[in-house]
Amino acid sequence: MFGKVLVANRGEIAVRVMAACEELGIETVAVYSDADRNGGHVEYADEAYNVGPAPASESYLDQEEIVDVAQRADADAIHPGYGFLAENAAFAARVEAADGITWIGPPSDAMETLGEKTKARTVMQEAGVPVVPGTTDPVADPEEVRQLGEEYGYPIAIKAEGGGGGRGMKIVRSEAEVEDALESAKREGEAYFDNDSVYVEKYLEAPKHIEVQVLADEHGNVRHLGERDCSLQRRHQKVIEEAPSPALDGELREEIGEAARRGVREAGYTNAGTVEFLVEDGEFYFMEVNTRIQVEHTVTEEVTGIDIVRWQLRVAADEELTFAQDDVEIEGHAVEYRINAENPAEDFAPTPGPLETYEPPSSIGVRLDHAVAQGDEIGGDYDSMIAKLIVTGEDRDHCLDRSKRALYHFTVEGVHTTIPFHLLMLDDETFVSGDHTTKYLDQELDDET
Ligand code: ADP
Repeated sequence: MFGKVLVANRGEIAVRVMAACEELGIETVAVYSDADRNGGHVEYADEAYNVGPAPASESYLDQEEIVDVAQRADADAIHPGYGFLAENAAFAARVEAADGITWIGPPSDAMETLGEKTKARTVMQEAGVPVVPGTTDPVADPEEVRQLGEEYGYPIAIKAEGGGGGRGMKIVRSEAEVEDALESAKREGEAYFDNDSVYVEKYLEAPKHIEVQVLADEHGNVRHLGERDCSLQRRHQKVIEEAPSPALDGELREEIGEAARRGVREAGYTNAGTVEFLVEDGEFYFMEVNTRIQVEHTVTEEVTGIDIVRWQLRVAADEELTFAQDDVEIEGHAVEYRINAENPAEDFAPTPGPLETYEPPSSIGVRLDHAVAQGDEIGGDYDSMIAKLIVTGEDRDHCLDRSKRALYHFTVEGVHTTIPFHLLMLDDETFVSGDHTTKYLDQELDDET
């Protein structure tokens, strides 16, 4: 096992990774920007190094500086968390090439293949996994897009190769919209992902977002840990995630899980990853692979009892997965609520500020992943997450019932939060029924973009 790990991240995920390191007897190294001098992850780590000013591009995204710190600190591995450099194949390759440092993640070449959505779609098709109808090559010409629109039928989606979180995705409802949509998808792709290449997919009107957690080791073992349902979305961003999905039956669950396993095997993938699907009318279609630990990995941990981050470390250290597919059992139900410093009444605008009061709930079935305390400042430099509240129950009803109390007893003053919004959802018939699709919230809030 590693002796010392550098965590190239901040906030709750940095602390989550460090906790797993601690359990395995590994020393931890934090990096921080000027804005995070007093950050929870800095306090938690055994050692901490300043890597630059507040803007992420000058600190948490400074590849050279981070590898340099790892070497100076004598760390023997780097864990990227999520966001920042986590899905940057070039960074992974750089770490792989650095003397004496292991990349805690998938091989950089698998990241590269799966990171480009058209390449990923090709690999999945080769593995016999159904994909959303669409192109496996980038498209550039409006005329070509119009032809595809005719072939698949509108609406279609023009999506950036490197896109994610709905960024760089434009929905086209008629031929007349093609030209503008193509231009803006390219522009967003270039701005956010430094890649103006785009492709075209059929746009499904009312799908469920179902994703499968996988773990693969260097010895040829690939396991899936069941699915998460992330269908409650606002403008293509996940709001509430849960496991298992209330919308899958046993047969579909098994099929999707096996498809995910085949796909990652085909890609030569190892470590933890997520295979995302859209599900509509009992059919499932591959959408993309996230080659990192995800924000919502927690709900899978709660229902399987498997510590995914710990396995990321063990697999990176060449250990073999010790459980068979049949050993993976889903028990109970878990839901994750993202507690963000945002004002739901004002279009979820971020509301940075001081946590004048911060009193999270603590009781049976309640897990809190966070890196803040009362008196801390939620800054405006990074995302607006304060904490992840994960509630587990015997079944979905029990879990939602418990959630109400947990959210009710979560007191935050000084900033607006998403807590009242989550409470509203727990009284929402459609969400409670589990029938909501990815379009539900936008329709309800009347702000489909
Ligand atoms: P990510 O899953 O990384 O956020 P995307 O930007 O590809 O990446 O997708 C975000 C969300 O947009 C999905 O969860 C889904 O709700 C929606 N979406 C993406 N592609 C399609 C599609 N072809 N049809 C319908 N909805 C889609």
